[in-house]
Amino acid sequence: MPDAPADLWPRAIAHVDLDQFYAAVEVLDFPELKGKPVIVGGMPGKRGVVSTASYEARKFGVHSAMPSSQAARLCPQAVWRKPRMARYAELSRQIRAVFARFTDQIEPLSLDEAFLDLTGSQRLFGPAEKIARRIKDEVLQGTGLVASVGLAENKFLAKIASDLRKPDAFVRVPNGPGEAERFLAPLPLRRLWGVGPKTCERLENLGLRTIGDVARADRAYLVRRLGEHAAEHLQALSRGQDVREVAVAERPKSVGRENTFAEDLRDRGVMRRELLFFAEDVSQRLRAQGLTCQGVTLKVRLGDFTTFTRAATFEDPTDLSEPLFAMASRLLDEKVDFGGQGVRLLGIAATKLAGKGESPQSLFPDEHATRRRRAAQAVDKLRERFGDDAVTRGRLLEGREETTGTPDDKVKDRDT
Ligand SMILES: [Mg+2]
Repeated sequence: MPDAPADLWPRAIAHVDLDQFYAAVEVLDFPELKGKPVIVGGMPGKRGVVSTASYEARKFGVHSAMPSSQAARLCPQAVWRKPRMARYAELSRQIRAVFARFTDQIEPLSLDEAFLDLTGSQRLFGPAEKIARRIKDEVLQGTGLVASVGLAENKFLAKIASDLRKPDAFVRVPNGPGEAERFLAPLPLRRLWGVGPKTCERLENLGLRTIGDVARADRAYLVRRLGEHAAEHLQALSRGQDVREVAVAERPKSVGRENTFAEDLRDRGVMRRELLFFAEDVSQRLRAQGLTCQGVTLKVRLGDFTTFTRAATFEDPTDLSEPLFAMASRLLDEKVDFGGQGVRLLGIAATKLAGKGESPQSLFPDEHATRRRRAAQAVDKLRERFGDDAVTRGRLLEGREETTGTPDDKVKDRDT
């Protein structure tokens, strides 16, 4: 029997957020890590930061974006893992494929987080709550990973809901007059998504503690203290009003990798070694996402923080490390004026991305490139199983220090 129309929401937005994603993938692939404090990120001792801490590590106060050295002090017994971005991207694609069974209105916020507009899906699959629960179940069945899900009438509420009872949470904000406001009222101000710590502090200084306090505050008083725009915005949010649509994803504009060095680099050989490492990482991620690039950008920051980029274009689209490396090295040699300074940061980004098959096919396929691609794919498989360092080139192995770079996937304040 079809569900009664009364069960269908006029607008239904789910926010799906995988729990401790990078750490969860490490535990998934290496079950011996289960129950241990796992930290994924740059190793301590350098300028590295924590990408994701498992819940066991969070009990020690470790959190995302914290300097690794601080995390190591807080949790000396932590098991450190280097990020395996290609593997995370692969699982992210599987998760998105689950979403796509239920809606084409998907707005990814990062590899492990997305808004889904389920409004139209209800005609096919029934009430939004049923769909959102199915998505949570099918992500678990399909990948072995746990997602927290918030369901509400808009993005703002859905986002707050998914984060409220993590991990393994399903939180539905009741749909109806006054429900959103009732749901928000008891929550502390820091739950107001998009409202930074400084604004929270200003509100607290006015004696406001909860979201309900802001909703009920005298408008004229708030305008006097915060200005008209901020007052209006904050009161709309505190009443759960948010009219933003789910913005269906576009392909990323670039895939990049960069590193800030513990000490400024002066040796060209060392710089080239870094570029080769980045080229390998970037090309691996292109292959994992089924993308090719036709451009590359080199980024350089000198000791005095002068930062510039140099770009070049390839004749043919590629997803291999060799052309990326060759072009980036050429840019470094020919287009960079160091002015006698050392290099504080280096990075490369693949640009002008296209899906495989979308780029014009060469009439005469390059056999050499085909062989290299096969070899690269075999290496990708090994890295998926054994980590990004399982297979490295001889030149990379010689004296390269632990990388502390972070991929350019959105670095969030808090990865939950
Ligand atoms: Mg997450």
